[in-house]
Amino acid sequence: MTRLSPRLNLIDGEHRPALGGLTIDVVDPADGQVFTTLPRSDQRDVDAAVAAARAAFHGPWGRMTATERGRVLMKLSALITQAHAELAELECRDTGKPIQQARVDITACARYFEYYAGAADKLHGETIPYAQGSTVMALRVPHGVTGHIVPWNYPAQIFGRSVAAALAAGNACVVKPAEDACLTPLRIAALALDAGLPPGALNIVCGLGTEAGAALAAHSGINHISFTGSPQTGTAVAQAAAVNHVPVTLELGGKSPQILFADADLDAALPVVINAIVQNAGQTCSAGSRVLIERSIHAEVMSQLKARFEALRTGPGAGAPDCGPLISRKQLDRVEAKAAAARDAGGRVVARAQLLADAPKTGFYFPPLLLADLPATHEVAQDEVFGPVLAAFAFDGENDAARIANDTPYGLTAAVWTRDGGRALRMAQRIDAGQVFINNYGAGGGIELPFGGMKHSGYGREKAFEGLKGFTTIKTIAILHG
Ligand code: NAD
Repeated sequence: MTRLSPRLNLIDGEHRPALGGLTIDVVDPADGQVFTTLPRSDQRDVDAAVAAARAAFHGPWGRMTATERGRVLMKLSALITQAHAELAELECRDTGKPIQQARVDITACARYFEYYAGAADKLHGETIPYAQGSTVMALRVPHGVTGHIVPWNYPAQIFGRSVAAALAAGNACVVKPAEDACLTPLRIAALALDAGLPPGALNIVCGLGTEAGAALAAHSGINHISFTGSPQTGTAVAQAAAVNHVPVTLELGGKSPQILFADADLDAALPVVINAIVQNAGQTCSAGSRVLIERSIHAEVMSQLKARFEALRTGPGAGAPDCGPLISRKQLDRVEAKAAAARDAGGRVVARAQLLADAPKTGFYFPPLLLADLPATHEVAQDEVFGPVLAAFAFDGENDAARIANDTPYGLTAAVWTRDGGRALRMAQRIDAGQVFINNYGAGGGIELPFGGMKHSGYGREKAFEGLKGFTTIKTIAILHG
């Protein structure tokens, strides 16, 4: 396969190598081969990016009206759409995800810029009734320079989700994409310059989490941080930001349940249950990694799920399989270790998907796995696997379903499948989750829907108008005029 030219940071509108001259190899998850390199940036590169963002915020970008900002973002959305095929191929190669999923992700990224472009000049503050002879305005103003630490599972989508909202609100951005996947954010940031975004308004600094990421999280020149990734790293980012009293939005994943009642429409539900764990090889914060099945239909549902799992094809993303490779050797080792621990603890393998014959032996493949009989307290029943492993549990009635659904440290998303409208709403009220879907599922799209967690899934909301508000703060102006 073709090797790409080395990738560079984008700082102050210029493509630059890391000041220290170091690089990181970029590996294709489909075959384990290196196909380009990234800059391995350090504190000095982050300092330069933050300074460029600050200058843009006080300069040409900060002087643009909200309508002008919206027009630039709308143009960027159009450029992403024009480059759709190229970006989807890049995303597929960089992350290993099936090409059809990569196409959906690029469409969603363009849609984020479109949505927030339209919202830019509809975001306004309030006036507040106060003392006699006074007028009080609560303005919504941007934070200033925002830091964005992006994970590797949906680089284009998560980049679009937080950067489009931050720019629409008038912030200047410094982005640290994940070392395992940052090619599409770099390409889209270059397109942003073509769309008319002033240099410095959007900077991309590549590098390791513990180096460039940690430098960004702890930077005193940052006014807000948006982080998506593991709970452990989220804690480290929030602690570093707390030293500078910088607000943080944390999106940290989940252990989301799909709850099937006996009256559910199984023909509608089961393809969605499968997709919720197989999509992106289970490396999705909102993956439906637990299926809770009412006991009277448990045997029937397990037999249907088994047949569906065994028909799934795992292979290189370019061949449009059902499931692509995992992102890295490290992630494959992690998922294999968790699956082995689940089996050792009594988890029964009900079904395993197929590995296609053309999948290179050097790729990072883990065919989807369906498990039953796992102890409820086991790590795989409680915590993210971040691989295509679905754990099935039986329940008896609404109380039991709600108890099991809430019995993990997480609370990101959930789905309830039933034809009983009252039950659907009772369950939705009782489940601790930032989003509850009734007879459907899919946190990935839904750009218009506020998204974020409860409990250890994090705090703050992204997407929707709510996400835009999160990239602003309130400035109150009180005038006593008599
Ligand atoms: P991670 O949380 O360590 O990485 C996410 C981002 O944080 C990357 O850009 C990384 O470079 C950066 N980072 C890492 N250490 C940092 C630090 N000390 N300071 C600042 N930034 C830092 O995730 P990972 O190690 O790549 O994956 C581990 C697990 O995290 C996965 O198995 C999965 O369970 C979870 N995860 C969740 C999501 C999600 O969407 N919620 C995404 C990726 C990973």
